[in-house]
Amino acid sequence: MNNFFKVSHYSKRSKARLGEIHSDHGVMKTPGFIAAATKGTIKTLTPQQVKEIGIQGACVNTYHLVIHPGVDVIEKAGGIQKYSNLNIFTMSDSGGFQVFSLASPKRQFAAKAGLTRKADVRGEEQPMLVKISEDGVKFRSTFDGQLIEFTPEKSMEFQRKIGADINMAFDECTYYPATYEYAEKAMERTHEWLKRCIIKIGRKKIGIETGQEDGKKKVEKNPTSKFYFPNSFPNPSSTNQFLYGIIQGGTFEDLRKKSAKFVVAQNTPGVAIGGVSVGESKAEMRNQVRWISDYLPSDRPVHLLGVGQIDDIIDLVKYGVDTFDCVEPTRLARMGTIYKMSNVKLQMTNKYQISNNKIQNGEIDITRTVYRDNFEKIDVDCDCYVCKNFTKSYLHHLFKQREILGYTLATYHNLWVMEKLFEKIREAIENDLI
Ligand SMILES: [Zn+2]
Repeated sequence: MNNFFKVSHYSKRSKARLGEIHSDHGVMKTPGFIAAATKGTIKTLTPQQVKEIGIQGACVNTYHLVIHPGVDVIEKAGGIQKYSNLNIFTMSDSGGFQVFSLASPKRQFAAKAGLTRKADVRGEEQPMLVKISEDGVKFRSTFDGQLIEFTPEKSMEFQRKIGADINMAFDECTYYPATYEYAEKAMERTHEWLKRCIIKIGRKKIGIETGQEDGKKKVEKNPTSKFYFPNSFPNPSSTNQFLYGIIQGGTFEDLRKKSAKFVVAQNTPGVAIGGVSVGESKAEMRNQVRWISDYLPSDRPVHLLGVGQIDDIIDLVKYGVDTFDCVEPTRLARMGTIYKMSNVKLQMTNKYQISNNKIQNGEIDITRTVYRDNFEKIDVDCDCYVCKNFTKSYLHHLFKQREILGYTLATYHNLWVMEKLFEKIREAIENDLI
């Protein structure tokens, strides 16, 4: 029986469902938001504040942790949970987005020509590409110049050492705009790599290849499980890690459907949708999820990589997405963009419509001079610690003076709003409203 994901209610109106993902570091209620913790920290927040806000999950990035402090250090420390003291449900991204999308030949060319791509919205550092092949990718770290190789097997090994609850299969994140031929090739390569990731975990699971790698730890096999649960993986924190296969296919409907069918058929414990929100329009982004809505598994969790704008989330939940990760609430917070709770309410009232219109005035820019002597609550509709205790004027002052507390307060509030949004979405599903 699959205890990893439990669905308690399927909406009568859409493919939305209410569920729980069970990990050794806590339960994640779904639909839910996974906050960006790229380098092993939800930027500016202490783990105590993370708990206070009620953040359910964090997403660390394999590429960044390989660069620094190195996965061996994290393994030695007992895994990322212990090392960071976050101790909440954690997911690790495979590194595919960084090493492929950011280091794509097109991007390298664009960088040389002084052009930038829209994928820059994710604000990642650009690795120096050395070689891309069917086997994987070699690049030089921008941090210290060391030569690093990512292959499906290496990504699995890196993620095992990091020890997050959810691991992503190594994929090629197709850049945008890509030709049909390129998107197809990248999708096929992603499928081959998923098979290799499963083989890598499978061998570990039954201990055929290495035998001794499990050391003295008892290996508990579950031959009846139809999913690839690497539950005997000897990771640093001795906890279960679950693999998600990633659906690719770019902006092409037939490729997306083909990829969804293939990835879902591999029976990984969860499924992720990748290669979206890399510069395409909102309509294209939603289409990429809508096209495959009927192919997504009903008994396993579905994660959407890199998407989390408030006005997109409800519609994507209706297509069957359970979890989201996105840097936007935290990155915008550090730029002084403060979410408004009224936007959450507005989204919930518009819940019956699928619309591509961005909601106006869904946030405020606290750096504007107009807030210099505004002594109102930061958000009149919010009762988080920040809004209860500080004024717009004070937060404006902190930002204008680049005081570190400003970034903490803004991050705290924005993530609080995200949590409230998902609470309301879960309530609405329970009542078959969406
Ligand atoms: Zn607030």
